[in-house]
Amino acid sequence: MKRLIIGNWKMNLTIPGAAALGRALAAAVRPATDREIAVAPSFTALAAVAAALKGSEIVLTAQDLFWEPEGAYTGEISAVMLQEIGVRYVLVGHSERRQHLGETDLMVGRKALAAQRADLHPVICVGEQETARASGRAAAVVRAQLLRALEQLPATGASTLTVAYEPVWAIGTGRAASPSDAAEMHALIRDELDRTYGGAARSVRVLYGGSVSPGNVDELMATPGVDGVLVGGASLKAEAFTRIAAYRA
Ligand code: PEP
Repeated sequence: MKRLIIGNWKMNLTIPGAAALGRALAAAVRPATDREIAVAPSFTALAAVAAALKGSEIVLTAQDLFWEPEGAYTGEISAVMLQEIGVRYVLVGHSERRQHLGETDLMVGRKALAAQRADLHPVICVGEQETARASGRAAAVVRAQLLRALEQLPATGASTLTVAYEPVWAIGTGRAASPSDAAEMHALIRDELDRTYGGAARSVRVLYGGSVSPGNVDELMATPGVDGVLVGGASLKAEAFTRIAAYRA
């Protein structure tokens, strides 16, 4: 299984800045057969970044989608709209959307299903708040988020699925999970995937996200159960993301 590194640019960069970052990464990131590198610009920059990445092996990702295929849903973007612009992966249920926009596990599952139906590869994001970890409920929270989303997906959905474990207290704080905490949660997620999909779960990658940087990526990628990383802040700098993409584990 190839490792997967995704840069989430969040609501940053206008079109010229996003295209410039795309071009810089296309020139600097060395293709390697054991890993896949992807970036997730804002919706408005997807087309420009697709053009900037042409000829490189960096893959286009979207930060969200809506679950209906078309219709009276003002402001939303469908899976087919993303597909036609060249998107392969799409984040669903990022903690910032759960927190600021009230996304529920049911919505996350419906979005993942809509993505799979349009041949996109959903990346289901799960992760506990700091209070849940402090009170010993981290595992229960993550398990519930994952299972409620997976319930919406067909039993045959494993081949296009990715899960990202992103503890909320580690996002944008500079305080990444320790390798042992990450390993423990990745093992739990892997167990649930095995229970849901059986042998087909082998193709599902489980990414870690939360303050990944050039300084900790090698250790995180060497952590058992970590099949890749989802990177926020550090993915906005070409040099930092290029180093992360060149991780040594
Ligand atoms: C993220 O937004 O998914 C993320 C992990 O952010 P950061 O790397 O900045 O913590």
